[in-house]
Parts: sequence; structure tokens; C-alpha cells
Amino acid sequence: MTATRTELVPFDQALETYDPVMGLEVHVELNTASKMFCGCSTVFGAEPNTQVCPTCLGLPGALPVVNGKAVESAIRIGLALNCSIAPWSRFARKNYFYPDMPKNFQTSQYDEPICFEGWTDVTIETDEGPQVFRVDIERAHMEEDTGKSLHVGGATGRIHGADYSLVDYNRAGIPLIEVVTKPIVGAGKYAPQVARAYVASLRELVKALDVSDARMEQGSMRCDVNLSLMRKDADVFGTRSETKNVNSLRSVERAVRYEVERHAGILDAGQKIVQETRHWHEDTGVTTSGREKSDAEDYRYFPEPDLVPVAPSEAWVEELRATLPEPPAERRARLQGEWGYSDLEMRDVVGAGALDLIEATVAAGATPTSARKWWLGELARRANDTGAPIDELGVTPVQVAEVQALVDAKRINDKLARQVFDGLVAGEGTPEEIVAARGLEVVSDDGALAAAVDRAVEANPDVAAKIRDGKVAAAGALIGAVMKEMRGQADAGRVRELILEKLA
Ligand SMILES: [Zn+2]
Repeated sequence: MTATRTELVPFDQALETYDPVMGLEVHVELNTASKMFCGCSTVFGAEPNTQVCPTCLGLPGALPVVNGKAVESAIRIGLALNCSIAPWSRFARKNYFYPDMPKNFQTSQYDEPICFEGWTDVTIETDEGPQVFRVDIERAHMEEDTGKSLHVGGATGRIHGADYSLVDYNRAGIPLIEVVTKPIVGAGKYAPQVARAYVASLRELVKALDVSDARMEQGSMRCDVNLSLMRKDADVFGTRSETKNVNSLRSVERAVRYEVERHAGILDAGQKIVQETRHWHEDTGVTTSGREKSDAEDYRYFPEPDLVPVAPSEAWVEELRATLPEPPAERRARLQGEWGYSDLEMRDVVGAGALDLIEATVAAGATPTSARKWWLGELARRANDTGAPIDELGVTPVQVAEVQALVDAKRINDKLARQVFDGLVAGEGTPEEIVAARGLEVVSDDGALAAAVDRAVEANPDVAAKIRDGKVAAAGALIGAVMKEMRGQADAGRVRELILEKLA
């Protein structure tokens, strides 16, 4: 049953009466080579039902074995989220029927998750500048993914209106970590930003841990947004809705905002919120009713009898703790300090996805300023033009540092460097090879330059006269003429010196 359709209440107005309470559940698909409980491959994009076996198809008699690498990844995620690691935890069967879940239960963890009671800090932009908001973590537990249903024949790709459905079990049994926050209260009007910042930081974290590629658009990281509203004078939470599979950062923010407006509309009309799951529609920016949400007891959880408990030793946990990377926020702050970037410059670098690239370019010998100039200028533009991610342009940080070294040695100038990048994108070899093959090296022979200067002076007597009279700014016109004659292959600074020497 869906609630009667009501008007949305504008977000700011809703916030006058209610405080949003959020709970975010993020599923992270691990990048292990094999599945959670069997040896099947996890490679994305294979032909349907080619990466399956009796265990992940739930055939009678097949026995699961826990993937040790997945346990390791779960513990590292938990440690990075400041969680406690359970010295002993069990898997549980979560019973329900779904066609893409061949066992009719999902092997998950219930009352004994491997990681619990953590926190992470996220930074949001507020009216008073950047502020840190702490998100408490309830738990992070291990489970397996379901298969995928493909509904054929309908206009929407959903089951309603479809002629038939196909099931692909390749994804069934792929290891997942589900990270569940405690109720997030007190974010007020910043709730949508906090939700987005949290998911963004979690994505950054699992990437830094190298436990998942965390591609939201491919579904290897998915967010469920639980939201309820609490009257400002109340002290109990309202009824929540759960919007499933919100698959981009922007959508997380929009879904929170939309649900606040929808809940407020229902509550203001004196109606009750239905506890249900909802679908997010990326195109229209609205949610629609899914199914009424079961309570946990409906799943009849019970301990998985086919798997031994997971009991990581303290020594192993400490060993894994030592492998944690520098927390992303600390790393950004450190790099910004080392590079001397402004807040705005740093934000642009992060936004362009160029942080790792610039770090590697600086490590290869370029200055932070020149590394940023190339990646955010020339290379970001090319990425934008072609739609390719900036790290898949075919230009490496080492090559960028080499191009800059050629510029620093005055063998090419910035304009010629762009042609070197053309060559790199086209796969024409190293920067040195491209400079040689394309004949890009600037003319450093003063004799040749002086001759060109003489011709420019002769052709522009009025300009030359101005410069002789001390109007040095006029030199630009002569520099331009010489550079044109040299087809850009000259050091403009040296040309300027020669002009001024001649007309002194
Ligand atoms: Zn299998």
C-alpha cells in the first residue's frame, strides 16, 4: 500500500518543522579474484552464467568455504573506519525468496558482524566555511551479492510490463561488505551534503585500501538511503523509508533532499509514513514505492551451519592495521601543504581526479605548479573533449614530468609542449622521440634568431623606433613576428633579449 499522493514541501520549509534522521547502508563489492564462498571468477562483464558452480548456484550438497582475502579486506575496511574487530563472528542465513538468489537465502552476518562501533569524519561546505561532521558506524559485515535479473520487453526495464525475465548468476556470491551507519542526526539542512560527503569519503577510503574499484555507475558500490523526519519538539525518530541502490554521489544528495520533501508533505497532511523500500529515478529525481519493508524477524536469520566461525587472531588484526594507508583526508592536507596549493586549487585537483597523477608527476621530478598546470589545463581539457577519464588518456605522470623537463631546458616552449601531448595521446613514443620526429625543438642558434630579429626590425621600422625611444612594451609585436617566422619554435624570452639588445 502506498501512501496517498501528497504535495512535496520545499526543503527549507520542511526543515523549519522537522530534523532529518539518516541511516546510510553502503554495499561495497570487493575486488577479490574469486567469490565469497567458492572459487568462481569475479571478472565483470563475462557472458551470463559462465562464472558459476554448484556452491554459488546453491545446488544440494555443495559446501561453501570462506574466502580469506575477503575477510582480510573486511577487517581492513573496519580498521580504517575505526571499528572494533570481533575476535569471533559468524555467518548467518538471511531467508527470503528472490529469483536472482538461487539458494533462497543470502549468506550474511546478523548479530555477530566482524566489524562494529566505529566512526569516520567527513568535511562539508557550510555557510560558515568547511566543517567536520562525525558519522558513527554501527557495523561492517560480510555477505554475498545476488545474481542479476534482466526484465525483457517492458519500457522501463522493471518487472512490470515485461514479457519475460532472464537471470544471470555470475554476480551471485561475489563478496560484499555492507557498511551501516548509526542514525545520523543533527545535520539539519546539511543532511544531503553530509550523506554525499560520507559516501564520497567511503569510496575514497576503499579505493585507498585497494579492496574495491568502487565504481558506483557499475554497481560495485551501492548506497541505500534510510530517511525519517523527527519533529523538532519530539524525541523519537519517525518512520523511515529506505531508498535502494542510489548509484551516484549526486543522486545520494538528491535522494535525501527529495525524501525530506516527500516525508514532510505526508506528515504535514496528517498522514502516516509507510515503512517501505523505494526506487530512485535518476532521470526525474523522484522516488517511487517499492515493497513494504520487512522487519528483521521476518528473515528468520539463523547461524550458518556449513561455515566455521571467523576468528581473526589479535596478531593478524595488528598486522593488517599496519597495512592501512594514510587516511585520505590527512593525505590531502599533507600534500596541499607540501605543494603550496590554495584551497581552491586543491579542490580543483581533487575534483578532476588528478591527485594521484600529480603526486606521481611531482615524484618524477616536476614542480607541483607545473604538474598542476599540465594536468588541470591541457590534459583535463583533452579528457573533457574525449570523455575519457583523465587517468586513461594514455599520458603518464613520468611523461608529463619529461615534457616539463624539456620546457625547463628551453628545448621546447609551452606551445610546442601541447604538440608533444598530441603525440603522446596518439601513441607516437616518448616525449624525446616525439620532439625529434615532429621537429619541435626550438631554434637555440642565436645566429639564426638574430637574423630573424633583423628581418623583423627591418619590416617594422615604426615599432623599432618606439622601442629605441624606450617604449619596451612595444617589443611584443616584434617578438610575435619573429616567433611567427620561426613557426613557434623559438624561446620567446631569448627573442625578446635579442630585440632589446639590438635596439638598446
Ligand atoms: Zn561458484
